[in-house]
Order: sequence, then structure tokens, then C-alpha cells
Amino acid sequence: MNKLIIAAAAAGISTSVFAGLYGDTPDSRHAWAVHDRNRPNPVKVTAEPGLPPSDAVILFDGSEKTFANWCAKDGSPTKWKLVDGTLESVKGAGYIYTKQSFGDCQLHLEWAAPKKVEGVGQGRGNSGVFLMGMYEVQVLDSYETDPAKDPNPNPNYADGQASAVYAENPPLVNASRKPGEWQTYDIVFHQPVWKDGKLVWPGSITVFHNGVLTQDHWEMEGLTTHCKRRPLAPHATKLPLGLQDHGNPVHFRNIWIREIPSRYANTTHGGPAADENDVMALRGKTAARLFEKIDLNNASANTVNQILEVISYSKEEPFCSAAKKLCGEYLAQLEKMDDDALQANKGAIISVKKSYDVLWRNGMLKDCKLGKFVNDIVDKKGWMKKK
Ligand code: MG
Repeated sequence: MNKLIIAAAAAGISTSVFAGLYGDTPDSRHAWAVHDRNRPNPVKVTAEPGLPPSDAVILFDGSEKTFANWCAKDGSPTKWKLVDGTLESVKGAGYIYTKQSFGDCQLHLEWAAPKKVEGVGQGRGNSGVFLMGMYEVQVLDSYETDPAKDPNPNPNYADGQASAVYAENPPLVNASRKPGEWQTYDIVFHQPVWKDGKLVWPGSITVFHNGVLTQDHWEMEGLTTHCKRRPLAPHATKLPLGLQDHGNPVHFRNIWIREIPSRYANTTHGGPAADENDVMALRGKTAARLFEKIDLNNASANTVNQILEVISYSKEEPFCSAAKKLCGEYLAQLEKMDDDALQANKGAIISVKKSYDVLWRNGMLKDCKLGKFVNDIVDKKGWMKKK
């Protein structure tokens, strides 16, 4: 039980009605308070070890059915092969694409370079994961590539190694396993954001290769290219995921994807696109929702706490007038109480003081008769002194 619930219980306040002032209040960049119990909780997803999360789209699980999720670039059936529950690239068959389109995503897949080592550098176990069909995370047998050895047994350029954002950014480390062994990619991808033809955010790629972070939120510089730099350009917000045929029989298995919201779409609680208008609109909406639940004809510690919480979201009308009314009426009740009655209402009075404390420390209140009164009572009685 957290401190808020303990305090509310001591005050005889129904926690199902009063979520409570507790953490720092909303501000111009945050529609929610710290530890805000009015903030919607995340949707529940089951995630068993080794299995795709319950909300994942299964793109390939070794079955004929999921093999049919893929097609050639022109939409015709792919000439890649289904071999022992794996997807095998076929030389000359071309890239394959998902029939479904995706944008920002979390992607998991497993791949294995051919066990029989052939070729060198870019010619050895080359394939690729093409996010939105445009941004390549390189798949390559980079196991023997080792600049510490002289001569390097499999020389290659750094921005073309396994888990490189091809032609842009080498992996932080070489986490490659031997050819023929299964390797994992866990990728978090955010597409670039454009507004009125202008780039406002370049998007990013994060990659874990065999569980090791190899791309740390790399912000893309351009579309995947070879040799020449190619700037980012606007495109549809959902496009098929592609896998590359680069002439080597690379195998894939266990491919799943989860669509995720754009980081840039978050305009109401921090982040790069936090927008004061959106923040204030949501704060106003929350205030109105909470205001509806208050019994304005019943001034009490409970309704005072409720209206102070509403004020923490919005100081517009009719909230301020209602706060003045409830606080004034509750103060009048307290002023009439003798010592015994005040003692009997100790929990309720402390709860109101705590609500005021949160608003005060966040600069949301100045002079307030009720606040001063409950502060004085609590001080005088020593109710909150640490023993
Ligand atoms: Mg490639």
C-alpha cells in the first residue's frame, strides 16, 4: 500500500473516488502529475520466455501459413524456399516483402549465415532486414572479421558489417556468431517524421544483436544506399518489411513484429514533441472528468481534496469558483470545532493539508485561508512531527 492510500484510509476517504494529490502537479509539458493515478494504465500483454508477446504479429513461424505472409516485390509468390521450418533466400529470386505494411515497430527475427563458408566481405552470408523496405540493418557473416588480427581474416568495411545501419553506422561491437549458428536481432525502429514536406525528426534504429546493443538509437541520415549518400525523403507511413536476396543462402526463422506508436506522436507528456496546447487540452479534459464526480453540495475533507485535485489540472471556471465555495464552507465547519472535534477529524484535516502542500510546492496556490488554517492546526497539535 502506498503512502497516499494509507493517508486516505486514515482520513476515512474513499480511495475509489479520490485518486489524490501526491506527486508534483501537471505543468506545461506534462498533462499528468508524477505518480498520477488518473493516468491511464498500459494495456496488458503476456510475454512468456522464448515466445512472441501476445500482441505481436507473427510474420514467420516455420509454417506454410506464415510463409504465405511473404511475396516478391511485384506481389507474386516468392521463389524463396521453405526449408525445415526456415525461410531460405534464393539467389536471383529477389527481395521478399511482407504482404502487410508496418511503420514504427519492434521487430524480432533470427537468422543464420550458410554453414559452408564461401566468399569474403560483402560476399559472405549477405542478406538484410529492410525496415519499411528502405532502411537496411545488415545481415552478414562477420564472424571472422577481426581488425585486431593482421592480416584481418575477412576484411570488410565497418558500415557494412552484421547489424550495421548499412552505409551509415557500424555496430558498436561485433557480436557475431559462427556461420551456421542462429543469431537474433531485436530491433526498435522509428520512421522519420515530416511535416509540410519538412523533416522534423529523422527517426531512429536501435538493434540488439544476440542480446548485445549494437545500434543505440541511431538517428538515420538517409535512405539505404551503396557508395553515394542518399538523403531522407518522405514516404508512406506504412510500408512492407523486406528481406534481401544478396546471392547467399541465408536462413531466417521466428520473425514477429509489434507496431509501436511514434515517439513524435506523444505531445502530452514530455518528449521531443510535447506541445503546450495539447497538454493544456488534456489537462482540461481530465479536470472536467474529475469535476463531474464531486458533490458540490457537500463540503467535506473529501470534496475539498477532490476539488483541489481538479485545480491541479485546470484553474479555469467553473473549477475555481467551486473550489472557493467548498474550501470556504469546509473552513467554516473547522472554525466552529472545539479541540475534541478537531482531534476527531485529525486524519481528514491532515489529508487536506497534504493536498495543499502539493499545490504550494508546485506554485499553484498563494494565499489561502483554509490552507493556512489546516497548516496551523497540524503544527499546533504536532500531528505530523516525526517521533
Ligand atoms: Mg545486405
